[in-house]
Amino acid sequence: MLNQGFVTITAKRLRDLEEAYEELAALEAHGVDNWSGYSEALICASGEECEICG
Ligand SMILES: [Zn+2]
Repeated sequence: MLNQGFVTITAKRLRDLEEAYEELAALEAHGVDNWSGYSEALICASGEECEICG
């Protein structure tokens, strides 16, 4: 799959990623980084244990 820096993904996967990116950009534009759980959620998203999910 990985070849000289290029990867192959399905069109659906690309669309899903683009949608998720747009949602995140909109959330950040609307102040989600001021939400009290924001930093904890980023810890969780990075794969580390967070206080909410354990
Ligand atoms: Zn979590």
